[in-house]
Amino acid sequence: MAGLYINQHVLNNLFYILVTIFAFSFIYDHSRAIRQRPLYGQALLGACLALAAVLCMKFPIYMDPLCVHDFRQIPFLLGTLYGGGAVGAVLFVVLMLARTVLYGFQPLTLIVYAIMFAIAAAASPLFRKLPQPSKLVMSLWLTFLLAVLTTFVAVIVADFPVTKPYIVYFIMMPPFVMMFAVYLMETLHEAQLARAELMKMEKMQIVSQMAASISHEIRNPLTVVKGFIQLLQTGRLPRETEERYIRIALEELERAEAIIRDYLTFAKPAPKETEPIDVATQLQKVLQMITPMAHMHSIHVSSSLEHGVVIGNVQYFQQCFLNLLKNSIEAMPNGGTLHVAAENRGASVVITISDNGVGMTKEQVRRFGEPYFSTKEKGTGLGAMVAVKIIEQMGGTWTIESAVQKGTTLTITLPASRLRPPTAEQSAAG
Ligand code: ADP
Ligand code: MG
Repeated sequence: MAGLYINQHVLNNLFYILVTIFAFSFIYDHSRAIRQRPLYGQALLGACLALAAVLCMKFPIYMDPLCVHDFRQIPFLLGTLYGGGAVGAVLFVVLMLARTVLYGFQPLTLIVYAIMFAIAAAASPLFRKLPQPSKLVMSLWLTFLLAVLTTFVAVIVADFPVTKPYIVYFIMMPPFVMMFAVYLMETLHEAQLARAELMKMEKMQIVSQMAASISHEIRNPLTVVKGFIQLLQTGRLPRETEERYIRIALEELERAEAIIRDYLTFAKPAPKETEPIDVATQLQKVLQMITPMAHMHSIHVSSSLEHGVVIGNVQYFQQCFLNLLKNSIEAMPNGGTLHVAAENRGASVVITISDNGVGMTKEQVRRFGEPYFSTKEKGTGLGAMVAVKIIEQMGGTWTIESAVQKGTTLTITLPASRLRPPTAEQSAAG
């Protein structure tokens, strides 16, 4: 019996609806700009579902003189429930225009969908707040009741003949199709949320790992210092031994200081928030910080910085580039040139740091960013690791080109954002 009614046209209509839901979800998933602005999300939802509705109407299930039968009410109701009155209104207009262009104007259609629009738009705020199972139940019943209600109206207003196919295609099937569509929307949305959550957790993990390793790293030198000071306290040591102990203690304190510098120069109590960062402004600040150090080593610093915005934590961003620039300076003990460039390439911001210092071997390039890898006598081997973690956290990538005794060029590519950096930040720079 049901098989009789499920024909190719019904499947086509189902297909249009499901494919456009997938298309919506796919685009939403892959566009940060859309996710960040509710208005864009609504526009995308409206556009996708309008397409579904028009396709359903263009290739309907069947036609009779009074009515074109298809599943257009599913995308219409779906869009109105999820997107609210604004999306519903757009869908309503598109639907009426398409109906008029394709098959001529039908006042009954206007009445039926005006009623659906009004009720679905009013129900939308409640619908959006419901947990998933209730959404399924509500969508099923709402679609059913709206079909029954509008049929009554059509019968009263236009003496509309209610046929068996009409009952099946307009009243009985749509509630179930609607429920499946809502289920699909919810499942896809949940998957997206779960992915975002996972990414956030990974980022948090980096932060907590870093915090854990700092305390571990600093405890070692402090324990050594404590031990030697306790030895000195006994007061019965030869002068030379005392001096040796004091030297060791001071060296260990220096080490603790270096570790803190590589990790936490800018650390603030709550360093987790991200915001739009203007790379030119922030790089300029870091350059200012390292310039005295560069001059001490007769290093010439030059820069060409284009404005470009990336999303990240300002303190981390500064820490990252401070560590990298410090490495470049340390790579040129006998002077040289340090060049920093920022280039805006639309979808990404590319930052290059070039020095003509000691350079790195292939092996060193491979180990760059590995914790505790250092070729310096007093190195921590943490600066590059912290920098690399911060770049990764910002969704960026990095490459190194280096030749021994010629120099090193580090290229960092960060995803660009179209958001504006906070104005306070800009005025602080000016
Ligand atoms: P540290 O600076 O304390 O040694 P880092 O993690 O900052 O530790 O750097 C790790 C290693 O990477 C350095 O010891 C050095 O060998 C190498 N390195 C990093 N940047 C450069 C550079 N610009 N030129 C040459 N070698 C570099
Ligand atoms: Mg370093």
